[in-house]
Amino acid sequence: MRHFAVVGSGPAGFYTAEALEKAYGDRARIDILDRYPVPYGLIRFGVAPDHQSLKAVSKRYDKVAESAGVDFIGNVMIGRDVSVAELLDLYDSVILATGAPHDRKLGIPGEELPGVVGSAEFVGWYNGHPDFADLDPPLHGTHAAVIGNGNVALDCARILSKTRHEFEGSDIVGHALEALDKSAIRTVTILGRRGPHQIAMTPKELGELGHLEAAVPVVDPADFPPVQADEPLEPGLRKSVTLLRGFADLPQEKPKRMVFDFFAKPVAIEGDGKVERIVVERTILDESGGARGTGETYQIPASLVITAIGYSTSPIPDVPYGGGKFVNESGRIADRLYAVGWARRGPSGTIGTNRPDGYEVADQIVAAMPADQSSDRSGAEGLKRLLGERGVMPTDYDDWRKIEETETANARPGSPREKFVRHEHWLQTIGR
Ligand SMILES: Cc1cc2nc3c(=O)[nH]c(=O)nc-3n(C[C@H](O)[C@H](O)[C@H](O)COP(=O)(O)OP(=O)(O)OC[C@H]3O[C@@H](n4cnc5c(N)ncnc54)[C@H](O)[C@@H]3O)c2cc1C
Repeated sequence: MRHFAVVGSGPAGFYTAEALEKAYGDRARIDILDRYPVPYGLIRFGVAPDHQSLKAVSKRYDKVAESAGVDFIGNVMIGRDVSVAELLDLYDSVILATGAPHDRKLGIPGEELPGVVGSAEFVGWYNGHPDFADLDPPLHGTHAAVIGNGNVALDCARILSKTRHEFEGSDIVGHALEALDKSAIRTVTILGRRGPHQIAMTPKELGELGHLEAAVPVVDPADFPPVQADEPLEPGLRKSVTLLRGFADLPQEKPKRMVFDFFAKPVAIEGDGKVERIVVERTILDESGGARGTGETYQIPASLVITAIGYSTSPIPDVPYGGGKFVNESGRIADRLYAVGWARRGPSGTIGTNRPDGYEVADQIVAAMPADQSSDRSGAEGLKRLLGERGVMPTDYDDWRKIEETETANARPGSPREKFVRHEHWLQTIGR
């Protein structure tokens, strides 16, 4: 028998477990460990609550968790409750699928002012992440700004602009729904250092903005190159740019505006004890497609600033780390130690991108550890003994099911569930 520990129960962890299960069948036991008693990583805590069809990918992960060779072991944090070296003693291979949960910093003055929040915090707040339940983002002012030109920036701008009615069918948590319902924000400026051709926004997410109940997207046609310049663009990007261009023709009578401010580089955030404005430098594209400052500056009012400029992985003691992720070569960190997903390649791609990633690493493991040979490592049995000695109480997949059933039973009308937003409430629900 082989024993594998997959650390992290987001998409990358589940795809890797699926691949290992397929490769080894009943000759391996695969444990998916997570710091929380609830699985799925960013499917639960990142993907927007009004994108339920995407969240449905978790049904596929359920099948993996329910298969005979796979166990979910929650409420165990690697690097705190147990070390990677200890896991390597207990398991044949350890695969780190811990994601990239930390917001990258802008590195400009004023970034620490109250009212400046990272997208991981803001997204975690509306998605029921226990670390951000008390975020209380300032929604009292009329202006907010989102810094970044990717889909996460669009998620944040859209969530700030939707009506209560538009959240029907979503699983946005109650505290966020109530706060957003009372929000005074009327203008959300989306700042990008470069232009429409350099966005990382996909057509589906952009297209939605043209159909919101109370908000309209606003672009300045002067920011766009001549339409012929769109021809050589990759088809997805060309579609996104076409959608953006079309925003210029939308009627502007709705009460809320989402303003795309391109060629706009934040250089400082200012305010008296809290954020009040962003100082922005106008840019132009240089020869290599980068943003070059022109020296011309202007100000944008904002009592809430959300930075959505990328993420980094949490370091884990004794695991080589650099550039915001674990140092690895095609997923291999060291002998029997691997990384997959965002912990391997940084925060890029879609949920599906993590699948080939996990399968590729599983192939490497199979090549190094033939399925017809076994080892005498103790796997989950040894891990649970160690955790017991340390007073750590792991949870299992049935515990998660109980939490899920309770969340479903607690749902307000029109919502699939009402998520618990405190770690202790998860544990109380399962009698810990
Ligand atoms: C705001 C946001 C919205 C997104 N929306 C979409 C979308 O609409 N469509 C799309 O295709 N993609 C979307 N993505 C991208 C998608 O979520 C990622 O591609 C995917 O979640 C990365 O998977 P992962 O398994 O590497 O990391 P994660 O999903 O982050 O999973 C990491 C897991 O590891 C656990 N963990 C971390 N550290 C430890 C530790 N020390 N010990 C134990 N467990 C640990 C975490 O609790 C978590 O469960 C979005 C991302 C974000 C941030």
